[in-house]
Amino acid sequence: MQSSDQTSACQSVALHSVTYEIRTFGDPVLKAVAEPVTNIDDKLVRLTDEMFEVMYKAPGLGLAAPQIGVQRRVFVYDIDEERKVILNPQIVEASGEWVYDEGCLSIPGLYVEMLRPKRVLVRGINLDGNQVEFEADELLARLLQHEVDHLNGVLLFDRMTADQRREAVTLYRAREGQPKDAEPYHLKLV
Ligand code: ZN
Repeated sequence: MQSSDQTSACQSVALHSVTYEIRTFGDPVLKAVAEPVTNIDDKLVRLTDEMFEVMYKAPGLGLAAPQIGVQRRVFVYDIDEERKVILNPQIVEASGEWVYDEGCLSIPGLYVEMLRPKRVLVRGINLDGNQVEFEADELLARLLQHEVDHLNGVLLFDRMTADQRREAVTLYRAREGQPKDAEPYHLKLV
């Protein structure tokens, strides 16, 4: 997820010998349901390190593995200067309502005011293989819902109202021909 006070610097990040591209809207990998993680090994740890690098450079608050083309139920995030990784996450409970101007690294240049639950209870596994369960509110709750959506092949476009979706598709298409640093669009919830 990308916060509206983060500006997009670059979408392609060179890491060692691998170049991870942030996949954008239209790439089929973003519509696929990711597979659960069954084995925590060095390869997975390396993947999460690389995901953090891509996320910080973008910059974004959170990044799900499918966004760099890896179909695994993994996401990373950092909203309090603390690196967090969750494997096989589940939203167990959700309550309340909260509107937030939500952005996505895979839909660059578009922020959409969206109503979602304000609080969630999340369960998953950390990189040590231990089950974790915690409650989150507002921004963190929003981020967790956004990233779990990515693991299920769900994008912001799927969560918009019909009116917003029509407008968003038009704005996003118009944006495609523009420079990466062009002013982002903010779509209000009406
Ligand atoms: Zn996203």
